[in-house]
Amino acid sequence: MMSLKACKNCHTVTDLAKCPKCGGETSREWQGYLLVIDPDKSEIARKLGIHAAGRYALRVK
Ligand SMILES: [Zn+2]
Repeated sequence: MMSLKACKNCHTVTDLAKCPKCGGETSREWQGYLLVIDPDKSEIARKLGIHAAGRYALRVK
């Protein structure tokens, strides 16, 4: 059911084995789904260092 993974490097949520954005390793062990629409206006996105709109995980193991 939970087939989505998250990049260990940039936290991007994906269903691929490698991150489509940075090519980093992805993990099934992640928590907290974060949808970023406008990274400039999102405090959480700033804290995580997110500069592009997209789907992210708050925590990745
Ligand atoms: Zn990545």
